[in-house]
Amino acid sequence: MPLPTATPAARLPSPLREEASVLQARLAALAGALDWAGVQALARPWVQAVRDEPAPFWAMESLLREYPISSAEGLALMRLAEALLRVPDAATAIALTADQLGRADFDTAATGGDGPHKRLASLSASAIALSKKFLPDGEHPPGLLQRLGAQTVVAATVRAIQLLGRQFVLGQSIAEALGEARSQRQAQPQLRFSFDMLGEGARTEHDAQRYLRSYRDAIAAIAVTAVAGAGPEANDGISIKLSALFPRYEDAQRVRVFAELLPRVLGLIDDAAAADLNLTVDAEESDRLELSLELIDAAAAHIAARHPRWRGFGLAIQAYQTRAEECVHEVARIARHHGLRFMVRLVKGAYWDGEIKRAQELGLAAYPVFTHKHHTDISYLACAKALLDHADVIYPQFATHNAGTVAAIVQMARVRGTPFELQRLHGMGEGVYREVSRYTPPAPPAQAGGLPVRIYAPVGEHRDLLAYLVRRLLENGANSSFVHQLADPQVDVDALLASPLQAAPEPGQPSPLQLYGSARRNALGVDLSIAAERAPLLAAVAATRVPEVAETPASEIDATMRRLHAGQVAWDDTPLTERAAVLLRAADRLEAELPAWCGLLVKEAHKTLGDCVAELREAVDFCRYYALQARDTLGPRELPGPTGESNTLHLHGRGVFVCISPWNFPLAIFAGQVVAALVAGNSVAAKPAEQTPAVAQRFVGLLHAAGVPQDALTLLHGPGETVGAALVAHPLTAGVCFTGSTPVAKHIQRALAAKDGAIVPLIAETGGLNAMVVDSSALPEQVADAVVQSAFRSAGQRCSALRLLCVHEGVADGVIAMIGGALQELAVGDPAEYATDVGPVIDAEAHAGITRQLERLDREATLLARRALPDGPAGAQHIAPCAYELARVADLRQEVFGPVLHVVRWGPGTAAHGGAADVEALVAQINALGYGLTLGVQTRIDSRAQRIAHAARVGNVYVNRNMIGAVVGVQPFGGEGLSGTGPKAGGPLYLYRFCAEQVVTVNTAAAGGNAALLAGAH
Ligand SMILES: Cc1cc2nc3c(=O)[nH]c(=O)nc-3n(C[C@H](O)[C@H](O)[C@H](O)COP(=O)(O)OP(=O)(O)OC[C@H]3O[C@@H](n4cnc5c(N)ncnc54)[C@H](O)[C@@H]3O)c2cc1C
Repeated sequence: MPLPTATPAARLPSPLREEASVLQARLAALAGALDWAGVQALARPWVQAVRDEPAPFWAMESLLREYPISSAEGLALMRLAEALLRVPDAATAIALTADQLGRADFDTAATGGDGPHKRLASLSASAIALSKKFLPDGEHPPGLLQRLGAQTVVAATVRAIQLLGRQFVLGQSIAEALGEARSQRQAQPQLRFSFDMLGEGARTEHDAQRYLRSYRDAIAAIAVTAVAGAGPEANDGISIKLSALFPRYEDAQRVRVFAELLPRVLGLIDDAAAADLNLTVDAEESDRLELSLELIDAAAAHIAARHPRWRGFGLAIQAYQTRAEECVHEVARIARHHGLRFMVRLVKGAYWDGEIKRAQELGLAAYPVFTHKHHTDISYLACAKALLDHADVIYPQFATHNAGTVAAIVQMARVRGTPFELQRLHGMGEGVYREVSRYTPPAPPAQAGGLPVRIYAPVGEHRDLLAYLVRRLLENGANSSFVHQLADPQVDVDALLASPLQAAPEPGQPSPLQLYGSARRNALGVDLSIAAERAPLLAAVAATRVPEVAETPASEIDATMRRLHAGQVAWDDTPLTERAAVLLRAADRLEAELPAWCGLLVKEAHKTLGDCVAELREAVDFCRYYALQARDTLGPRELPGPTGESNTLHLHGRGVFVCISPWNFPLAIFAGQVVAALVAGNSVAAKPAEQTPAVAQRFVGLLHAAGVPQDALTLLHGPGETVGAALVAHPLTAGVCFTGSTPVAKHIQRALAAKDGAIVPLIAETGGLNAMVVDSSALPEQVADAVVQSAFRSAGQRCSALRLLCVHEGVADGVIAMIGGALQELAVGDPAEYATDVGPVIDAEAHAGITRQLERLDREATLLARRALPDGPAGAQHIAPCAYELARVADLRQEVFGPVLHVVRWGPGTAAHGGAADVEALVAQINALGYGLTLGVQTRIDSRAQRIAHAARVGNVYVNRNMIGAVVGVQPFGGEGLSGTGPKAGGPLYLYRFCAEQVVTVNTAAAGGNAALLAGAH
């Protein structure tokens, strides 16, 4: 759907800008705006007072001082806090506690500090150290006494975490939270609250409806306490997360976002407006910024029409985003355009680590966030100034625990006489705000009697608190965090309050493209969530027609092989550096032509846009990685030996390599095989899959243009049974590299073995019955995300795809229900559409084959969930994503190469029916399937993940993430057993398999004696 240019998104600059220039603009905006000596003078007494009267032991600051998250102890406590409360079974709870407490040394931890802190900290440390003695080592069944002791330790740990959690939730229900707010207000009448109903983002419609109800109920309850006529500034309010209200709150699903999410938000707006409350939309990941502004624009139109006098609508803006200031101006423009006033909460941003990782994974040209803490501080101040400048349409709400930031805001607001409020999180920054609340600003008069402070107050049960708690632990645990430094007496007060404006602007972190250092550039990616970035791809898709590729007549194969055989000699003699340079040129060219390649991949291979970009990047990575590997490892190598002799190992091409590749990665796998063979000095007969010759032909053309001689590479298109078989059987074939099904690999192996003449090596990469092991400590939402991506992306047509989900019986019902719900949210349709998650399977034959396998599953297994298919021709070649439950692992007999997930339960209760009683038995059952490609593990018990990986006979193990999308050089890919021969593609050992080796030994003393030895003798 093309967007009109006047949308809020279109008014924002690209987030992919160079950090330094953005920073200069922010500094320029702040020129003359602040007197930092005055800021320090204001904040110094606050900080000193907090230092003199520190927070209690159980406060976050103190806890993190005793057990910083950079220590094993701090990390153990954080991970326990995240997981323990949700574990339903005693055995797993004990294993988790033993695992986490076991890896830390509480005996010697917590020695910092002095006075009451130190005594309390060492008391708690001794208690933990003592408790550890009751916990089992590893997962061997403990004796009865130890078991009773272990249960007591676990119960005590659960209590401690609940206690910790209580510091950060105002109440377990909105009624409890309102009661607590009332009692806090008795002591501090100027306090207001913004309630946050805790929980993970929704994965299913059911979850979204639950969150919607809880928001509605909360607004109704807050409304009862609101003072009529007081206005949203004076009343308590609510904060909402759009990701909780809709399971697909993402740019690609914008049509549904406006059709389904927007009405939910408008309903909440109507409720909040009727009660004259402040309703704030929380800020989430940066890839939703454009979408959220469009949503805010639509909401503003509704408010203008229905509640033109309501001034309580608001949103949060994250200063760590490099386009935060432009966002402030855009929000002000929207408010002005609709004749409204917004309440805007300025935060620094809570997802910094995630933003950095996403940018690196996607290979973006720049980070969307600043990469130094003081750059974010500068941006925050620039945004604060901009907000204060828009006082006619914005009521600014400054959310920070940083005393310097607070003082700077007070100073800037005082100059302008603009009203504003401060915000903090419940359980954090209490010391600073205790002091700030004692401060009475001289102006403006409206704020006499203390600065208004609003507390962001999470409401919810302990289980829902955990993810929030961990975010806060991380936030405060960071060395650069103000709260962390405030608690550290080693940090001088002046250093704590140093001006971010004076700190020398630092060069940004190495860009995502420098992830692999200076030697190899990360493949450039595309942020599809940015309209301007995806537009060229959509245009290319629309313009692409798939060219016809002529089949290779059987009569030409022999002549082609002879030509390649002859051409190999010159190519092998080409200097290694030049062969590598050809690959590097090819990589650059691929990158530059990204949109056109995506067009072809969508049209010929029915790939979704996201999959196309990922595939092209993989091909680029293969070219660069093998080029560097070749340069580094394939040159001549001197070997040690006796004096008077030189021994040199030379690697060279074997001859003509036959490369046979599949249709599911028609570019990446095809390219990986071909360039590896070429750079090692072979000539290549490249046989692509019958379904995808056009992609292959284009790539061969690109390689020729990059410098591969015509006689070193030829495309041979045609059926496997004829063209493929003739190539394998040809006497000049010196090696075969095959990716495809296990039966065809076996067939090739037999054909090669049956040939007379040289012994020809085979590199085969085949399929897998890939499992994911989920225990009861795993987070269901993470499991659901990983399963849906691994099983259904690319319509399940990846050899790495998840086929068998093995879930612990204690959590199985909930996990299965969540996956079933998430599966219903998948967009099944035309891959040319940006919104599509699951396209058709490759061809009618594949469709018919999978359909037959599903008929068998309908008879033999229990259907758990099936996504409805689109009507009409769009759905004709689609397989509906679905999940079936099997009784036992062994019931999975064959790979279904489509979006079909099998599920089994495991745990002691399943053993009677042939299920696996524990993880060891489960892994043994998985190994017995005979395949060995990928394995997923979802657990918070680190030692368990390691043991599973050790016992599993598979090539790639992925812990607590999805199990697809192996990255070249990062996750070298390939399996064992029925899954392939190795070596792994994209790994350090791959190229050697394409080489013949020769050692040249020269008796350097032959001509009369050992001159070198004699010359060096003393
Ligand atoms: C009332 C309230 C509501 C909130 N709502 C939201 C919300 O809707 N969305 C949201 O994302 N967050 C929200 N937050 C969380 C908020 O982002 C963090 O609490 C805040 O960033 C901490 O900043 P500070 O000024 O208290 O501390 P400081 O210690 O001064 O700043 C810490 C912050 O600096 C930034 N930072 C740290 N290291 C780096 C680095 N290397 N490069 C660049 N930047 C860095 C990060 O944003 C980090 O959180 C909210 C906080 C409050 C108080």
